[in-house]
Amino acid sequence: MGNFVYSDIFNKKAKEFSESCINCKLCVRECEMLNNFKISPKDFFNGDIEPINADPSIPYSCNTCETCKKMCPKGLSIEDLFVEMRKEHIKNNRGKSPIKGHKSIEFHQTFSFSKIFNVTIPDTKAGYTKRVFIPGCSLSSYSPELVGKTLEYLQERLPGTGAILKCCGKPTLSLGQEEKFHERYSELQAELDKLGVEEVITACQNCYITMSQFSPNQKVRSLWTVIPELGLYDEMKGKGKISNITFGIHDACPTRNNFDIHEGIRWIINELGYRLEETEYSRENTRCCGFGGMAVPANPELSKRVMKSSGEKSEKDYIITYCASCREAMTIAEKKSLHILNLMFNDSYNTTSRVPGLNKNLIKNWMIRYKSKQVLKAKGKL
Ligand code: SF4
Ligand code: SF4
Repeated sequence: MGNFVYSDIFNKKAKEFSESCINCKLCVRECEMLNNFKISPKDFFNGDIEPINADPSIPYSCNTCETCKKMCPKGLSIEDLFVEMRKEHIKNNRGKSPIKGHKSIEFHQTFSFSKIFNVTIPDTKAGYTKRVFIPGCSLSSYSPELVGKTLEYLQERLPGTGAILKCCGKPTLSLGQEEKFHERYSELQAELDKLGVEEVITACQNCYITMSQFSPNQKVRSLWTVIPELGLYDEMKGKGKISNITFGIHDACPTRNNFDIHEGIRWIINELGYRLEETEYSRENTRCCGFGGMAVPANPELSKRVMKSSGEKSEKDYIITYCASCREAMTIAEKKSLHILNLMFNDSYNTTSRVPGLNKNLIKNWMIRYKSKQVLKAKGKL
């Protein structure tokens, strides 16, 4: 890495950052990653990056969680600079991430955009398709049943809802592969355009952010704000009242500033009748679950520590999540973790109920995802 030189654009941004930073280290206090590398942001981005600082594992260990920006009295975003650094590494490494572990992300992205794991279905029952439900990668690799039941619910309450199982390309973008991302995103956009949909409903927070930015001609909505508008089935209402569990909650960091999503989630929990205990880390104060920013393959040990510390933010044994990756992280952190769709579509949970664990088998994960495709495909044939 000795010959690595950052571009003038990066150096200019780094200089501006360094001049504004008052070196209070409030960001460092809250960020395990900055602590891990013993980074003083002011010194690190001093406008004269030394080759040693080009160590790619530093920017690629950032969870892109925005906690630093939230803590900074000047509103400075270290994440933005790390994202720029990633782009530089990609440019200097023939379009590939210099991190060996990121081969797994390349593999994930190739499969996530392959015909084997993708499907687009219209709402055949309604006979027209105005919008699509996009379950995203993590939910479809977690539970085909929940993917299918969610689509059924949406079609019953909002006739004219089809579905697309395809990745939004966020992992490619997170690696800093901008060109490749646009190429991949255009495949998703082509599916939206082929169906002629006006609206998209996403279950994944990363899909929500990415599609809101890159599909300006579609109205992009989060499932968690749509459900409160549509209401729950009568049999779902109040079923948690007999539960002996008080849940903690882990809010997803990509939508930390989306008040409507936080409210929607609380509305669902309340309608279901479950008890919830908030903490000082709820809502916009949430921390990354550990899976953010493609940091796991870059720095597995640090990521495990981030997951553990994120799980410890709530004293409760049972945690509600609304992102399947957050659910997995909370499970790694030894919490009994449920996706909010489990609470909606399954029987009432109590301390004797079976809670889904971890699936460590990669092949099995892809098989589950393939099953999600089959479930959606069957619904498209009705
Ligand atoms: S975005 Fe998160 S992980 Fe990255 S530097 Fe900021 S606080 Fe640390
Ligand atoms: S919180 Fe902001 S001002 Fe303080 S050290 Fe971090 S980046 Fe600099």
